[in-house]
Amino acid sequence: MVVTILSVDKDVFSIDEEVLKRLKNVRIFDTTLRDGEQTPGCILTPPQKVKIARALDEFGIHVIEAGMAITSVGEREGIKAVVKEGLNAEICSGCRAVIVDIERSLECEVDSIHLIVASSELHRREKFGKTLEEILEITTNCIDFAKDHGLIVELSAEDGSRADINDLFALFTTGKEAKADRFCVCDTVGVAVPEQIYARFKTLTETFPNIPISIHCHNDFGLAVANTLAALKGGGKQFHGTINGVGERAGNVAIEEVVMSLKALYGVELPVKPEKIFELSRVVSDNMNLPVAFNKALVGENAFAHESGIHSSAVLKNPETYEPIAPNIIGRRRRLVMGKHAGKAALKEVLEEFGFHVNDEQLIEIFDKMKKLADLGKKVTDSDLVAITETVTEGTIEEAVKLDELTVVTGNKITSTASVKIATNGKEFFSSGYGTGPVDAAMKAIESALKNTAISQIHLEDYHVDAITGGTEAVVNVRVTLRKGDNLITASGAGGDIVMASVEAMLTGFNKLIALEKRKNHEK
Ligand SMILES: [Zn+2]
Repeated sequence: MVVTILSVDKDVFSIDEEVLKRLKNVRIFDTTLRDGEQTPGCILTPPQKVKIARALDEFGIHVIEAGMAITSVGEREGIKAVVKEGLNAEICSGCRAVIVDIERSLECEVDSIHLIVASSELHRREKFGKTLEEILEITTNCIDFAKDHGLIVELSAEDGSRADINDLFALFTTGKEAKADRFCVCDTVGVAVPEQIYARFKTLTETFPNIPISIHCHNDFGLAVANTLAALKGGGKQFHGTINGVGERAGNVAIEEVVMSLKALYGVELPVKPEKIFELSRVVSDNMNLPVAFNKALVGENAFAHESGIHSSAVLKNPETYEPIAPNIIGRRRRLVMGKHAGKAALKEVLEEFGFHVNDEQLIEIFDKMKKLADLGKKVTDSDLVAITETVTEGTIEEAVKLDELTVVTGNKITSTASVKIATNGKEFFSSGYGTGPVDAAMKAIESALKNTAISQIHLEDYHVDAITGGTEAVVNVRVTLRKGDNLITASGAGGDIVMASVEAMLTGFNKLIALEKRKNHEK
């Protein structure tokens, strides 16, 4: 795919040919499963680690740091499971400068270790109470031990952005003598600025020209991408990062942001598959249970959504007006959001997408009704829009799936269970399910009842609850996003009972999605 470089003014961002050539060979070291898993409250089971590792490998990541082997038995099981996958990527384990950490990594049969050594005076003093000389001696012993056992060694200078440059020289000279394979400079607390990182990398890569040097950035001041790019421009051959920028505190640099900045802004294509980015982001957020901020660059819900009438109509005429890149480059679709700021052009486009071809008069009526709903402060979902359009066009609202009975039992000494009776296409289905709470149990029961029908192919993408009023008697609004193949729909349910509101949202979504499919098939 050819990408138009939209924002590069060659005079300002001049990168010479040689640097461009070098940037194309930059390698990606992913630490979603190690630094990313250190996000407070996040624990990955071995099967979850494997799922994420597979997706990373498919994307084209060069090194996967699968965990820190010393952490626990479970962690080692996870790393071993990733190793067993036989992926293309080099599999790495994080290690402190302690022999037992390397022994545990060897147990997992990883290809490499990421040896993290304190490099700043602050870290040496406060964490270990050791002198530079003592640290250097330990480093030599660790690298010798790892190399004797056939491991690739990446020697990382922890807090390297705050370390005295002479201490970095000393650490890397020790690493070079012990035959470490790669070096890394960590901006551990995210306090570096691009000019400093650039200068540091220029000096270090000139001093150690034959050993690849990585950059490892944290995002405490939102400068992680800028610092990573500066390091690469300054001679860095590899960068560390995580998907969605997960990680301790403000997180690590988001790999997808670096990849797409290089591609779209500098014209540098790394050997990865950008079209996998959105899917990969979902795999990571689902398995780590870490939702992506709605305004997160590239992968956030709103990154390619337009609501304002002026923006939407301009985007429909020429996407370049308000989109930096085409969403399909990273495996996404543009979303025109209906609401208070929406315009008629966008409304017409959205209705066509839902298979409605309305005349001008109908369009104005639907538009007015939608604005009224939005003025009430309500988020206009796709199913609201479909319902309005059906009323205006007097289309038949066919209820393909209908709930007849629902019973839910929940309590402190029992697992929440639910039983349902559902009718679809003139047939009745009974089933039951249990779950972590009453909503989950009800959903499992519905899923089980419909498992042999076409509805089982509908996938729940997102589930969101808002309490509209305060207190325990609050009215809740449940919003779901459902997908079947290429068709995506949002639907909502509201009421005082969260279980019923959730079920209503799901069934409304099922019915709208089935109707949408029918309309589309009819058009063909
Ligand atoms: Zn880190």
